[in-house]
Amino acid sequence: MSRRKLVVGNWKMNGMQAALDEVAAIGARAAQHPAVEVGLCLPATLIAAANARKGGAFIGAQDCHMQASGAHTGCLSVAMLAEAGASWTIVGHSERRQDQGETDADVAAKALAAKAAGLGVILCVGESLDVRDAGNAEAVVSAQLLASLPDGAAADWLAIAYEPIWAIGTGRIPTMEAVATMHAALRAALASRIGEDAKGMRILYGGSMNGDNAAELMAITDVDGGLVGGASLTAEKFAPIIAAAN
Ligand code: PEP
Repeated sequence: MSRRKLVVGNWKMNGMQAALDEVAAIGARAAQHPAVEVGLCLPATLIAAANARKGGAFIGAQDCHMQASGAHTGCLSVAMLAEAGASWTIVGHSERRQDQGETDADVAAKALAAKAAGLGVILCVGESLDVRDAGNAEAVVSAQLLASLPDGAAADWLAIAYEPIWAIGTGRIPTMEAVATMHAALRAALASRIGEDAKGMRILYGGSMNGDNAAELMAITDVDGGLVGGASLTAEKFAPIIAAAN
């Protein structure tokens, strides 16, 4: 089954209004590659303004709350994010799992809330270095995926991002063989839960993807794109990754 490549930038806590020029430059590069679905998950403060300058890219959020409203100081609901112009959101990034103590159940609830608001969802999973070194990364990440997967998960609104925690922002990546093995294991885990639809669900790789390694990573059979942190902050660095997905 052919799966359209999905390449998404995660700006994390980076980007002032001045960075909107960079959003526009990335949007212009995305428009040159319509075969690739390109997005930028931005700080919430940029979403509305970025939406007017997104070109061929979509604008997404980096997190959402699972409840529709209420006493949750500092949090943003899916309706707020959608109204601001987000059409996707990341859920379950390892930095939130670690820093905010988000559980698999939280991640599944957030994904369901996002779906109800019409947002696409990128659900992140990945192992620590200890787990990788212990030799059971595939089993641990597959279990994390199944525990985080919301009811009704389907390829037309949800994508998975496999992000080894030890590869994020470090310049280190797994071997291509290890990435291939993990992505195949995750697709098998998906098939055990959602059946045939697993063949259409996109599984992105994330963790120190850059213009030098993107083509090789995205040539792996079960790698359907990338979730990109540092190398998505400028058009100069992100454009080669978009092109590599084409
Ligand atoms: C990320 O945090 O999602 C990520 C992949 O970061 P980086 O590309 O900087 O490793």
